[in-house]
Formats: sequence, C-alpha cells, structure tokens
Amino acid sequence: MKPTDLYIVIPCYNEEDCLSETHKRLTKKLRQLQKQGVISERSRIVYVDDGSKDRTWRIIRRLKPDAIGLKLAHNRGHQNALLAGLMYAKKHADAIISMDADLQDDINAIDEFVRKFREEKCEIVYGVRNDRATDTVFKRNTAQLFYKLMHLLGVEMQYNSADYRLMSKRAIKELAKYNESNLFLRGIIPTIGLKATTVEYTRAERYAGESKYPLKKMLGLAWNGITSFSIKPIRAVFGLGVVFSCVSLAVLIYAVIMKMLGQTVDGWTFTICSIWLIGGIQTASIGLIGEYVGKTYIESKHRPRYAIEKIHNPYKKL
Ligand code: UDP
Ligand code: MG
Repeated sequence: MKPTDLYIVIPCYNEEDCLSETHKRLTKKLRQLQKQGVISERSRIVYVDDGSKDRTWRIIRRLKPDAIGLKLAHNRGHQNALLAGLMYAKKHADAIISMDADLQDDINAIDEFVRKFREEKCEIVYGVRNDRATDTVFKRNTAQLFYKLMHLLGVEMQYNSADYRLMSKRAIKELAKYNESNLFLRGIIPTIGLKATTVEYTRAERYAGESKYPLKKMLGLAWNGITSFSIKPIRAVFGLGVVFSCVSLAVLIYAVIMKMLGQTVDGWTFTICSIWLIGGIQTASIGLIGEYVGKTYIESKHRPRYAIEKIHNPYKKL
C-alpha cells in the first residue's frame, strides 16, 4: 500500500509557550511513521494562527521541518481556524488529523488513527477520551450536561470527543459542502455519515499556558451547537402554547363551577378565562411563526442533503 500523505492541522491562539514542544514531538512522530512506510515524505503539519496577540506567528514561521503556517487576519475562534486549516490541507492530503496545540491530545493515538484509516478504510476516526480526570469538576459536569442536552434535542454527537480526529480527503470534501457560517464541527461531522470509528486516548493536562476557552467562549460554543442544529426549542414554544390552551379549558370549567357556587365577584369569570385563553393562543401563535422561521433558518444553511458512499456502475470506471 502506498504511504499516506498525512496532514496535521493545529489551530493556535496565543500558544507561544507550547508550539516548539508540540512541533518537536509531532515531527518525531512523523519521522517514526515515515520510517515504517505508513506515511509519505510529503506529510506536513499546518499551524493556523487564529489572530494571536503574542509571538505565535513568529514562532510558526521558524518551525522546521515540515511546518506550514496560515495566519488568519483576525481572531475568528477555534472552529473557524480549524476549518481554514482543513480546507487548505484538503488540496494536498489523503488524510488530515486535527488536534490542539497544547499537547492535551495524546500524540501516540496518531498511529491508531492512521491504521484505522489505511487498514479498516475508515473515513472518519474520532479521538474519544477514556476519562475526564484532568478536567475540573465543573467542566466535567457541564460537559456531561451538554452531551445529554444535545442528545435530547436530537443532535447526533460522538460522546466525549472534541476536535481530535482524522478525516479522509473524501470526508473533508463532503464537509466543504456545508456552507453555514455558524460552525459546530462536532455536530456537523457525524451528519456526513461515512464509515467512522473511534480511538480511545487519555487526555493530558495542558503543556503550558492557560486555556484559550474561558467560560464565555465555552458557553458560546455550546449555544452555537444547540441553536445551529436544533429547532426543537421553537417547537417547545408551540407546545407551551398548546399546554396553555388546554389549561384555559380547565380554568373555564373551574371558573364556571365557582360562578355557579356563587363564590365569585362580578367580572372575575370572564377575566380569568380570557387571560388563559389569550395567553394560550398567543404563545401557540408565536410558536407557529417560529416554526416557519426555523424552517427558513434550516433552508438558509444550504446544507447538502446527502453524501453518496459508493456507486456501482459496471459500465464505467470512476
Ligand atoms: N484556539 C483557537 N482560537 C481561539 C481559542 C482557541 O485557535 O479563539 C485553539 C487553541 O490555541 C488550542 C485549541 O483551540 O489549540 C483548543 O483550545 P484550548 O486548549 O485552550 O481549550 P481547552 O482544552 O481548554 O478546552
Ligand atoms: Mg486544551
């Protein structure tokens, strides 16, 4: 089997303390795989500087060998930086691995990623954390809650998998068909639907520096994940309207009984019934309008409707 042209894409935001060590370890790994004849001499590491304010870009330019640098004009966030790197690498690579710059993702999992790509012909290989021991209690619990919520909202996601994964050129080409600007790669990639598998790894502590994902950015990512994948919250509004309308019926019966028992003041029955009925109708109407807004939202993304996995055409060699 011919050696794979492997590209590794690393988004970097203010990572001056990590980059040299990350590059040292990655090039060592590349050499090792090249010696085994698994990957080619054309394999590269692409560092995407996501508008860093420190010396990140200067360091990237000096990294040798095998390093390619992309510099974004502005800080566009991890997901966009990653996409920029993937779209660049897809022109040159057979397979692309995305990973963080801080060495939290175990480099030794790369062997298994590549093996599953080459031998098992998997198009997507997800790195899955086997525990969350290096996370704070807060992060562990909020992450758990987030996965549960996403599942509840009907979003297919690989549990405990961040953005450490391998994708084949073909999978990346399918990904390129998604034109939406609110990117949540962890949600989009499973919807591509090509042959996928997982590799377990232990997530380490950050090598140096601080997390570039403060709570605000994390909440932003989670919110983006929910709202760009699910219109269920809008449906819930409509459901609430229906519930209110049903309650108004119960209130009507209750109010009439009270009236008949003579336990009401003048005008109370009419007022209380109106409040519930109008509340119910209004909430349901908002939900109904929301349903159309939600549909428009989904349409506006122009997501591809399918990905063809295989074509059987005995008359033509594709
Ligand atoms: N990152 C980025 N742009 C940002 C924030 C983060 O490119 O605006 C990169 C960062 O340099 C790192 C990766 O995204 O390579 C993950 O960030 P980090 O390790 O800080 O997140 P954590 O592991 O704390 O969730
Ligand atoms: Mg990290």
